[in-house]
Amino acid sequence: MIRSFCYDVNPSRIVFGRGAVTHVADEIARLGRKRALILATPFQKIEAARLAEQIGMAAAGIFAGAVMHTPVGVTKDALAAFINCDADCVVSFGGGSTIGLGKAIAWRNDVPQVVVATTYAGSEVTPILGETEDGLKTTKRDRRILPETVIYDPELTIGLPIAMSVVSGLNAMAHAVEALYAQDRNPISSLQAIEGIRALKIALPRIVESPTDIDARSCALYGSWLCGTVLGTVGMALHHKLCHTLGGSFDLPHAETHAVILPHSVAYNAKASAEELAPVVELFGSSAGGGLYDFAVSIGAPSALKDFGLTETDLEQATDLAVQNPYWNPRPIERSAIRMLLQNAWAGIRPQ
Ligand code: NAD
Repeated sequence: MIRSFCYDVNPSRIVFGRGAVTHVADEIARLGRKRALILATPFQKIEAARLAEQIGMAAAGIFAGAVMHTPVGVTKDALAAFINCDADCVVSFGGGSTIGLGKAIAWRNDVPQVVVATTYAGSEVTPILGETEDGLKTTKRDRRILPETVIYDPELTIGLPIAMSVVSGLNAMAHAVEALYAQDRNPISSLQAIEGIRALKIALPRIVESPTDIDARSCALYGSWLCGTVLGTVGMALHHKLCHTLGGSFDLPHAETHAVILPHSVAYNAKASAEELAPVVELFGSSAGGGLYDFAVSIGAPSALKDFGLTETDLEQATDLAVQNPYWNPRPIERSAIRMLLQNAWAGIRPQ
């Protein structure tokens, strides 16, 4: 049976393939722009400089100060750099942190963004921006935030360390798993979600075995594009709420937290969304939560929140925060069950 749905896609232009980074200057020109401020983290400063050299006159300057959680102070500095170098667009070279900075600039001055994505987090294809100010993280959703052009070049992900590839890939999978049971899902978002999970399930073990395997890197990037796309299209539920709470209030690392929580949030919703999660059971065997847990362990992902500095006494407060503002989830949010979920995720116990 086909449920009623509303299909509303985000208009991104995707340029995918080995060597696709050589198209950056053409893509800037295609947007009618001439001078890009290149954004990166301090860690990827050298790659940003290489890109600036490659695009020549189209590079107006480099701002390599992007950090996690898009602090407003950093955005102000980047905006000053944007004005000083007389830029007319941004090129965000990196993962979610750098892309967040490009989005924060575009949200304020509506300039076009070209993204060269180098992790699997998926931010490049969403109209969502999370910013922090005075320790508070707020989230905005707007068409202005959505990057106009995304370049996926698997060669740029060869250097993504194995551990980061694993957690980043599971972060992407989490978008797709929640998209499967999203209240506002549609037939296309479900197809994209299943294909995204399938691609990452094939790619991640191969990357662990051989991080320079370009076909596996391509497959992972393809999967993360699909997973990011559904994150930008349909609403998320318990899993993303828990990760947002743990990241925002306890400063837990973003992708690692997603990797640990995913099997537990899926197990929580397994009965309520048995039909929607059937493709996950088919792909991973066992139960949806147990199968995802076994897969994550098999590729060396972290499995316990206690390994990231969260203490057992933090769990009460984390539970309070996670149940505080009502939000839609396939299974109603029950405080005692959420407390148990967090206890198990903290200790690293395999969900059933
Ligand atoms: P990240 O961007 O913070 O990157 C982590 C580190 O890895 C950085 O030092 C980065 O420079 C480095 N790195 C990136 N690509 C690399 C590569 N190919 N090789 C070597 N090093 C590389 O990590 P992330 O997980 O991509 O992003 C996390 C942030 O993105 C969080 O703040 C999260 O909230 C946000 N996010 C937002 C959305 C959204 O839709 N708004 C979606 C997903 C994530």
